[in-house]
Amino acid sequence: MTAITREKIFVTKPYLPPREEYNRYVDRIYETGHLTNEGPLVKELEQKLAEYLGVKNFQYVTNGTIALQLALKALGIEDGEIITTPFSYVATTSSILWERCKPVFVDIEPDNFTIDVTKIEAAITPKTRAIMPVHVFGYACDVEGIQKIADKYNLKVIYDAAHAFGSVYKGKSLVSYGDISTLSFHATKLFHTVEGGACIVKDEEVAGKLDLIKRFGHNCDNHYCLGINGKQSEFHAAMGLANFKHIDDIIEKRKIICGYYDRLLDGRLGRPKIQEGLEYNRAYYPVVFETEEQLLRAFAALNKEGIYPRRYFYPSLNNLPYLKERKVCTVSEDICSRIACLPLFVELTAEEAGFIAEIIVEVL
Ligand SMILES: *Cc1c(COP(=O)(O)O)cnc(C)c1O
Repeated sequence: MTAITREKIFVTKPYLPPREEYNRYVDRIYETGHLTNEGPLVKELEQKLAEYLGVKNFQYVTNGTIALQLALKALGIEDGEIITTPFSYVATTSSILWERCKPVFVDIEPDNFTIDVTKIEAAITPKTRAIMPVHVFGYACDVEGIQKIADKYNLKVIYDAAHAFGSVYKGKSLVSYGDISTLSFHATKLFHTVEGGACIVKDEEVAGKLDLIKRFGHNCDNHYCLGINGKQSEFHAAMGLANFKHIDDIIEKRKIICGYYDRLLDGRLGRPKIQEGLEYNRAYYPVVFETEEQLLRAFAALNKEGIYPRRYFYPSLNNLPYLKERKVCTVSEDICSRIACLPLFVELTAEEAGFIAEIIVEVL
């Protein structure tokens, strides 16, 4: 293989819309002078995204982490135990801890890395208040099974749907399930607004509460409850609106790149099983190596060529050093030791994807 001088390739590269399209929205901000606090661009973006996802009570907020914390607060969950998954980004666990609740980890399915529904009931105690699963990488949790358990034990369900934008399950957006689903629009996500997030709330009353607490808990001089600043700015909404025009192309382009990887790596690495009824958004391209040692060898070979995949997710969150209790989650710990996400972004070329696959195959 000849060494080619090329730009470094990271696991992702934020999508940037054509500059003039973003500028047109920024011009509107300069015309109105309205910079934040539920401005017209925020309203327009909320409306467009709600329509695209087919949901109501869609609230655009500062980021995906605040979205999770607002969800817990709006549902009145101030303490107690939250059943959650150890296989996610750290924000899923940190938001529970930040809200003074206790994360109770339930191990994952080896097939698609989402929470193992058959193990949830055994983790329920009188202190359990909610279940916070993650549609990790955009794959669907067993939403029916989870709802059944929640109904039986009177628990709330908050989906961390940070990866689920664009995934459709049984004809409905994956973010339409649960009492609240949260999204992240961070620059590295499939659809982004630089920083940003959203809450999709089932109950009208809870939606009203969430709307109030995200703007300090007051209306003019009337203070109703403890709030925080979870509002989003017009500049972020401008980026969102400019990106939104390209969302179908973004997903289409990612499908093509995933297709290259599928063909070139077929069968050689572990791949998640996509549930029946799921239209997958291609938010990530995770691959599972046979051993951690094999993963590290592949990383070394790729790094030598200036290619930097990421160990998503590592470590398993049940092993975070600041947790008070240790709980073993064998499946999650095993998967975490061997899983990585390959570079996947709109600008990645067929040639680059081919080069990446070739290096990996050589290591195997
Ligand atoms: C990105 C992410 C978050 C946090 O979102 P931010 O917008 O970065 O705060 C939460 N959960 C998961 C699973 C994520 O990937």
